[in-house]
Amino acid sequence: MSKREWAHAWLRSPKKLLINGEWLKPRKTLETINPFNLEVLTEVADASSGEVDLAVKAAAGALPHWKRMTRKERAQTLQKIASAIRENAEALATLETLDNGKTYREALVDDLPESADVFDYYAGWIDKLYSENCPVEAGSLNYTRREPVGVCALVVPWNFPLLLGCWKIAPALAMGNTVVVKPSPFTSLSMIRLGEILTEQNILPPGVLNIVTGGAECGEALAKHSGVAKLSFTGSTEVGKKIVQSAGASNLKGLSLELGGKCPNIFFEDVPDLKAAIDRSFTVCYSHKGEKCTEPTRFLVQKSIYATVEKALVEKASLVKCGDPFDPQTEQGPQCHQAHFDKILNYIQIGKSEGATLLVGGERDGEKGNAKGLFVRPTIFSNVKRSMRVAREEIFGPVLVLIPFETEEEAVEIANDSPYGLAAGFYTSDVSRAMRVSNALDAGMVFVNHYGCYDFASPFGGFKQSGWGKEMALHSLDAYTKLKSVWIRYA
Ligand code: NAD
Repeated sequence: MSKREWAHAWLRSPKKLLINGEWLKPRKTLETINPFNLEVLTEVADASSGEVDLAVKAAAGALPHWKRMTRKERAQTLQKIASAIRENAEALATLETLDNGKTYREALVDDLPESADVFDYYAGWIDKLYSENCPVEAGSLNYTRREPVGVCALVVPWNFPLLLGCWKIAPALAMGNTVVVKPSPFTSLSMIRLGEILTEQNILPPGVLNIVTGGAECGEALAKHSGVAKLSFTGSTEVGKKIVQSAGASNLKGLSLELGGKCPNIFFEDVPDLKAAIDRSFTVCYSHKGEKCTEPTRFLVQKSIYATVEKALVEKASLVKCGDPFDPQTEQGPQCHQAHFDKILNYIQIGKSEGATLLVGGERDGEKGNAKGLFVRPTIFSNVKRSMRVAREEIFGPVLVLIPFETEEEAVEIANDSPYGLAAGFYTSDVSRAMRVSNALDAGMVFVNHYGCYDFASPFGGFKQSGWGKEMALHSLDAYTKLKSVWIRYA
């Protein structure tokens, strides 16, 4: 049986909630849609606050056993999860493509390996965390202990459904917490299937990982639940602000927030290799249909090379093949869901009405076979003013704005003139400028001469309204532990 046939057979049954190691039939369901043809794929649970409560209680019940497991047992469990994801990579990538619309190649090559590797990475940290022996006055010993936070709620968006969930699950479990995961209602399938694989293979004790699917009501129930000690959220700035309010009004739970972005990418005229810079920037901007938080969507281009950059980008954008995301020739799949597709097209209208010059795209792709799909042609606006909404607001699709500049100071000022501060990049041959501009950019991640580098060993996360805290490396371990200071008086 091919993976597509397997997926269609699997989709025939409505999906359930994973609570305390059991799959429970939900009271309410919602449909999940294939954005390539708008067909209903299946029904998933739309969890109520009562069902969320059951999941949180299950996670609380599993906590004492899970946090007392030996370091070796916990590490081995995480390594088994990594292996299980690798063994099922094609099936999970198939579900991701059906549900999200990203190409199968993107799902299989970008999302799946990292979803597995992050479990191995954090398994490796479990027995390598030292505490501090603090240099206090003689007569006392003072040291620190890292303890699990408790029940962690992990709320994720639809653009990297499995991967962003695994970025949170792996360090949370590594540090001895139990979790309730909530994927996006638009793309719950890969996480549900992962839960099934883990239960089929008996990899985790019941209640350590619970999965509740649903929309805002379900997410809000987690944010307001006083049994949740920590909520780690990736999603929009708008919802991030609501979560802060819900957490504050309940038990002041700890929060990690990875939010939106409108990232600048600056082309200085001393770019070391202009063609390589354009190729790389174009790929990072338009891959995964432009549905990436760190996507560089504002290209700031020095006037002396503006015409060259503009021409090269337009040529590349015109050639992009939108189509069936399972077709190996397809470069861009459909946008994830109808409301998002409508939002992108609306922003294109806003850009036109604001007076930006539409160079290419700006419309639905209705090529043969694409008519029912949510395809937006790669779009480029030129001569954009930084005050325009298309230059300031997150569109989260294949829409790029080009802004000309003259001096380094002007470029930095435009780059920083944003409510967001997730990532920023620039290209230069001047080492002094590389240092100066890196320091001056108000963004959590800065890429010099190669936009978009990621590694588990490097912190990920933004400044300003792009979020609170960092993920990856030691920072995720901090996020999922609480630090206790112990004093022993011996004098
Ligand atoms: P979203 O904020 O609409 O939803 C994210 C998650 O929150 C979903 O699971 C959703 O069901 C849930 N949710 C909705 N309302 C809620 C509420 N009131 N309380 C609690 N949970 C609630 O985001 P989205 O549309 O799914 O994803 C796109 C956004 O995610 C973009 O803004 C993008 O920049 C951002 N994002 C950020 C990062 C990052 O690392 N900074 C990574 C990926 C995506």
